[in-house]
Amino acid sequence: AAKEAGEPYRWYHPDLDRRAGDEARLGADLRIALNEGQFRLVYQPIVDLPDGRIRYVESLVRWEHPVRGLVSPVDFIPAAEQNGLIVELGEWILRTTCDQFMRWQQEHGAAAPERISVNVSARQLAEPGFAQVVADVLAATGMRPDHLIVEVTETAVFGGGVALQTVNDIHARGVRIALDDFGTGHSSLGLLQTVPVDVLKVDKSFVDNVTMAGRHAVIPTVLIQASDGLGLSAVAEGVETAEQAAELYRLGYRLAQGYHFGKPVAAPDFAARRTGLNPV
Ligand code: C2E
Ligand code: CA
Ligand code: CA
Ligand code: CA
Repeated sequence: AAKEAGEPYRWYHPDLDRRAGDEARLGADLRIALNEGQFRLVYQPIVDLPDGRIRYVESLVRWEHPVRGLVSPVDFIPAAEQNGLIVELGEWILRTTCDQFMRWQQEHGAAAPERISVNVSARQLAEPGFAQVVADVLAATGMRPDHLIVEVTETAVFGGGVALQTVNDIHARGVRIALDDFGTGHSSLGLLQTVPVDVLKVDKSFVDNVTMAGRHAVIPTVLIQASDGLGLSAVAEGVETAEQAAELYRLGYRLAQGYHFGKPVAAPDFAARRTGLNPV
């Protein structure tokens, strides 16, 4: 389980479930969780380098289980993909994310984040109706399509097919597309030419060692050069220290996300931080 400092994931150990053959129970619990409203969204800023001004925000799902406590998405998204519940859960996530964005726009105007990012799994993209769901949510919330960023993984779109078609369709409606965890999946710079990408999210694994001498900076350097050359925005993920932020800025990165700038928090805490009541 990906336990993060500051986020009290507790109780739940996925190994117990696997060992006891409780995969099915996890799937059934997810169904109940959706019916009972046990899912929550938290929000993490995506900021300008070097000053940390908030530009975008990414929504991330949490499961507040009555007995297990806070369950990490790493431990339940795979099960939700497997039993197909991710389709319904993903729709709830999308709707809630867009609702929250519009609320911030109304309450804070120009001080609100410019765009909001939502994670969409491979299974959702494989649903032929997904592009229409996105269009419906935008229409229902009155949100401008270019204010939404849909984050997809390289692996999800690598094989082409319905997933790529869906991404093309969403993009044609004006929604921004981000390639998440870039550099860790079926990485190919060629993908940047076949998929309509607007934002490249450079994976934390490349950021971790960026301040170390020599070859560690080669890939982050290549990726910012490719982004600039192709006219994409690059976001450095998982920035945890001021040193990493400074080095990324030196390499040419202008957008970053990570604990150094702010952990994912519930909407009221995010808004409080924005208005300076609770500085990062
Ligand atoms: P991701 O989309 O790559 O999200 C970034 C993850 O890294 C988040 O973990 C975030 O809390 C964490 N993170 C951010 N900054 C730092 C940092 O500086 N250091 C460290 N160590 N971690 C950092 P989280 O929220 O546990 O989500 C894990 C993964 O679960 C996500 O990775 C994404 O693949 C998936 N996920 C989360 N929310 C959703 C969702 O709403 N829908 C779908 N389909 N997948 C989701
Ligand atoms: Ca993401
Ligand atoms: Ca990521
Ligand atoms: Ca990830």
